[in-house]
Amino acid sequence: MHAAGALLTIDLQAIRANWRMLQARVGSAECAAVVKADAYGLGAAQVAPALAAEGCRRFFVAHLDEGIAVRPGLPQDATVCVLHGPPPGAEGEFVAHGLVPVLNSRAQVDAWRALAHRHDRELSAVVQVDTGMARLGLSPVELRALAGDAGALRGVRVACVMSHLACAEQPEHPANEAQRGRFIAARRCLPAAPASFANSCGIFLGGGYHFDLVRPGAALYGIAPIAAAPNPMRPVVRLQGRVVQMRSIEPGTPVGYGHAWRCERPARIATVSVGYADGWLRAIGESSAAAWVGDVALPLVGRVSMDTITLDASALPEGALVPGALVDLIGDRQDVDAVAARAGTIGYEILTALGSRYARRYLADVAAP
Ligand SMILES: *Cc1c(COP(=O)(O)O)cnc(C)c1O
Repeated sequence: MHAAGALLTIDLQAIRANWRMLQARVGSAECAAVVKADAYGLGAAQVAPALAAEGCRRFFVAHLDEGIAVRPGLPQDATVCVLHGPPPGAEGEFVAHGLVPVLNSRAQVDAWRALAHRHDRELSAVVQVDTGMARLGLSPVELRALAGDAGALRGVRVACVMSHLACAEQPEHPANEAQRGRFIAARRCLPAAPASFANSCGIFLGGGYHFDLVRPGAALYGIAPIAAAPNPMRPVVRLQGRVVQMRSIEPGTPVGYGHAWRCERPARIATVSVGYADGWLRAIGESSAAAWVGDVALPLVGRVSMDTITLDASALPEGALVPGALVDLIGDRQDVDAVAARAGTIGYEILTALGSRYARRYLADVAAP
């Protein structure tokens, strides 16, 4: 820990508690876990097995590579679904690694059926339909053509029919109900199978959105799933930066690149070893974000550098902050969503941008309070 410039603490117990909470919320539906992008930057190798230990049995990743990496750490009876489906020619990898593809296009359906034919057995797949995002999934035209072609799914065991919401973080958005209606209609064109529709925000749109399987990611990691209400999820991440140097400066002294900030009064500046290379985005520096030492907020001043930020530490008594000390950048006082809002982005981007330079500490064995 002494060697590290900054410390990232990831509370696996909180992630497990968040999954339990969501599972309870969806009642008889099943709660999966989306662990793509290295579990939103928090470490899929740690997060996925922790959720499996909590009882989660279905996991979603985006890329085939991610599925290959996460599968060996999970119990045999867990299912790993790959959202992007097989890249052309890579269908065999899914069988070799025990992964279930999400089939998003007629081409992916055809390639999967051909593989099933070669193996001379049924192969499971999730079929995604596009209900209003124009991103992934069978288009309405493709779906109609598929429904009219009796042999199109021969050998494909449809384990699940899924779609994805475009505007779920805005509960009043009319697209939510429109997509739900199209999803219900689309299911009738496909073999009877469990249905999956809701991401984190979708779960909070109500029971009509739950269907058989929900796919939360963000909420598991503590990101608020409802914008207009207090965050019901437990916080997961604490980021602490280490003070490298303290200095006192005279009024008018410019600080950092571009001399973008000058102090008006005598000030004490703390240089902390977290920068944009660590995912502390440059845009955060131009915001009202702060670092915290106990209850005291220290404003970020000047531009974010690659390896450092500078704080105005004048609110603390001289000598209170010394090189080696840790300051809180994400934590009780300023959660992921608050940092994101100040930087003009979303919590998802803050988490997935977290750098690889942090010393990472996983809280696994601490009993939930
Ligand atoms: C990323 C993703 C999710 C998880 O979304 P959250 O908003 O993080 O809960 C669910 N489904 C699909 C298709 C996704 O791409």
